[in-house]
Amino acid sequence: NVTLAVLTSGGDSQGMNAAVRAVVRVSIQLGVTVYFVKEGYHGLIEGYITKANWYDVSFTLNLGGTIIGTKRCKPFMTKEGRMKATKNMISFGISNLVVIGGDGSLTGANLFREEWPCHINELLKNKEIDEETSKKFDHLNLVGIVGSIDNDFSGTDMTIGADTALHRILEAIDSIVSTAFSHQRTFIMEVMGRNCGYLAVKSALMCEADYLFIREWPQKLDWTDKLCKNVQAARNRGKRLNIIIVSEGAVDINGSAITSEMVKTVLVTTLNQDARITVLGHVQRGGSPSAFDRILASRMGAHAVFCLLEDTAETEPKVVCLNANTIVHQSLMDCVKSTLEIGKAIQQKDFDKALKLRGQSFIQ
Ligand code: ADP
Repeated sequence: NVTLAVLTSGGDSQGMNAAVRAVVRVSIQLGVTVYFVKEGYHGLIEGYITKANWYDVSFTLNLGGTIIGTKRCKPFMTKEGRMKATKNMISFGISNLVVIGGDGSLTGANLFREEWPCHINELLKNKEIDEETSKKFDHLNLVGIVGSIDNDFSGTDMTIGADTALHRILEAIDSIVSTAFSHQRTFIMEVMGRNCGYLAVKSALMCEADYLFIREWPQKLDWTDKLCKNVQAARNRGKRLNIIIVSEGAVDINGSAITSEMVKTVLVTTLNQDARITVLGHVQRGGSPSAFDRILASRMGAHAVFCLLEDTAETEPKVVCLNANTIVHQSLMDCVKSTLEIGKAIQQKDFDKALKLRGQSFIQ
C-alpha cells in the first residue's frame, strides 16, 4: 500500500488549495493513502500529520491561502530538525512527499531527500528502526510544486498564484485610475516581486503605466530626469493622470534602492505634481484564486502524484512545471540551482546575467 503526504511551505499563494485538493483526490482515486502535514516543515518535525479524506478538500478550490497551513521553520534548516522529520514520516509509514512552496521550501526539500538515506542508516545504527524498516524506507520519493505569487522559479512558465496576484494588482490600479483621472493625480503603485519583476512588468504593460522600476533593469543615475520627462510628456499630450509602477526590489545601477517615497519626492518637488503612493502589500497574496491558477494548480497536483508513483531510488527528485501550456516535470535540483543562480547574479548586480537566466518565460 503506497502512502503519500502533502505539505505547503513558505509564503502562501492563491491556488495552493487546488493543488492540495488534486493531490488528495488523485491519490485516493489510485488507492494511495494520503496524509496532510499541517503548518509546513514545522508540522513534519512536530508530527502534525493527519489522514486526508475525499471530503476534507471539498469546496477549497475557491479559497485563497492554504487550508493546511504554512509556516517558516528554522529547525528544518538543521540536520537534527530534518532527522526528526524523517522519524515522524517513518512512524506514519510515509516515504512519498509532495512539497508545495517557493524556492526556499524546494531547496530544503531537495536537501531532505539527499540526506534521507544517511538518516535511515543512523536510525538503524542506533537501533531506532530494524533492518526490514530500513530497507522499506531506503529512499524518499519527492516531488515539488511551485507556489509563489512572484513567478520567480526557473523551469516553469508560471508558478501557482502569480496570475491571481496580477489580477489583484490590476483591480487595484483600475480602481485608482478613476480617482486619479478626476483629480489629475499621479499614483505610484508599489508591487511585490523583490527578485523578480514579473508582476511589475505585466501590470505596467496592462495599465499603460508611464514608468516602471524593477530590480532586473537598474536605473541609470539620471533616472529622475528621465522619469520627469516621461511623465511631463504624457501630461503635455493631454493625459490627466500618471501611473508609476515600483517593484519592491527596484534599484539603480549602483545597486542602491529606489523607493516609492523617492519617486514621489521627485515628482512633487520637480513637477509640482499631486502624487500619492499606494503600497499593495499582502492584498496581492489574498482573495480567490483566478480560474487560471485553479486549473494550473489542479493539473500540477495531479501530475505530482503520477510522478511519485513512478519514482525509484535511482530517479531524481522532480518539480512539476508548465512549459508551453503543457504540464511536465523537470529535475528539481537543476531548477533550484538555476533559480539560486539568478538570485546570486542579482545580488552581485549582474543584471544582464539574471535576465538571460530568467529566459523567455519572464519576457513573454
Ligand atoms: P519560500 O518557500 O516561499 O521561498 P522560505 O524561503 O521562507 O519560503 O522557505 C520556507 C521554509 O523552507 C523555511 O522556513 C525552511 O524551513 C525551509 N528552507 C528554506 N531554505 C532551506 C534550506 N536551504 N535548507 C533547508 N530548509 C530550507
